[in-house]
Amino acid sequence: MIPGPVEVEPEVLQALSAPVPGHLDPTFVATFGRVLRRLREVCLAPGAQPFVVAGSGTLAMELAAANLVEPGDAVLVVNTGYFSDRMAHILERHGARVTHVRAPPGEAPDVARVEAELARGGFKLMSVTHVDTSTAVLAPMEPLLRAARQHGALSVVDGVCATAGEAFHQDAWGADVYFTASQKALGVPPGLALLTASPRALEVWRARKAPVASVYADWAEWLPVMDAYEAGRNAYFATPPTSLICALDVSLGLILAEGMAARFARHRRMALAFRAAWSALGLRMLPTSEAVAAHTLSAVYYPEGVDAGLVARVRGQGVTVAGGLHPELKARYFRVGHMNRVNASDVLTTVGAIERALVEAGHRHAAPGSAVAAAQAALGAA
Ligand SMILES: *Cc1c(COP(=O)(O)O)cnc(C)c1O
Repeated sequence: MIPGPVEVEPEVLQALSAPVPGHLDPTFVATFGRVLRRLREVCLAPGAQPFVVAGSGTLAMELAAANLVEPGDAVLVVNTGYFSDRMAHILERHGARVTHVRAPPGEAPDVARVEAELARGGFKLMSVTHVDTSTAVLAPMEPLLRAARQHGALSVVDGVCATAGEAFHQDAWGADVYFTASQKALGVPPGLALLTASPRALEVWRARKAPVASVYADWAEWLPVMDAYEAGRNAYFATPPTSLICALDVSLGLILAEGMAARFARHRRMALAFRAAWSALGLRMLPTSEAVAAHTLSAVYYPEGVDAGLVARVRGQGVTVAGGLHPELKARYFRVGHMNRVNASDVLTTVGAIERALVEAGHRHAAPGSAVAAAQAALGAA
């Protein structure tokens, strides 16, 4: 129950145990082509160009930054925490002049401030983290994306802790780049960086004057490969992680069989059950209101008198949760991932383990069982 890597479906594990396919094998060619088409469907981005490349989510960040930024470009980073800082670091490495609009930890970015900054003009690109995994804050994507478009800036969205869990309609909402990694709500082991780019993003990239300052991250190397596989032909630039791509195909198939709307609704339902439990336990969430809280993970302050040792106690009760990540607050809260195949039973098991760990840690909260009951009530009600 950590915010990645997450538990994967048995069918996904099974795909990983098959003999290793060659990247030129016709069956693999068909699989890779299907993966690219399915990724468009999962991102609700029928008009976008998908890229699937071996690497972690950080490479996906670099695949966006390296191709869209030229030295001296002005970039606005809507900063909600740890991963927004990382994105700024990567953008700067590729020559961007970064301006931050920072939200205090736990608060959503202020759309009016972002708009005011964008209105000053000259920003080539706005970057925003859909769900900041360090704070569990969900950014208000639609108004932010609208603002970027109005002011002529490309939008780049870090969906690593959101894609396939948190509602997102890339084309309808006008996002230019949406990127993610395999090990979070997509339900595959770590190792794949995924990105979907709008025609506008590709146009801006094609009009570059400076060469992309990375060979491995250059869309020019990958575009012919993606085009070929989608057209049913093989192509080579660097060996694709064939087994992981087969596993991704299976997971994307399961995701689409569930249906995006149903999947977003299930993640929301699990998140609301956890919130009911936190509230029954008298625990405060890091996001300052329900409206800005993510549905893919929870970030919750330790109560008075309980410290980060709680994470080990919860593990002792049989469930793995994560400690804090935001540099200013990390000793004060813990995180629970609820992505991919998390169901009602997982919620109850986790809440029960946290209740017992809190009792063991000496926290005097409502009667043991009350948080499980609150979660049950929420699951029944939703
Ligand atoms: C996990 C994560 C990343 C980084 O992904 P890695 O696979 O660890 O490189 C980036 N952004 C967000 C929002 C994340 O949650």
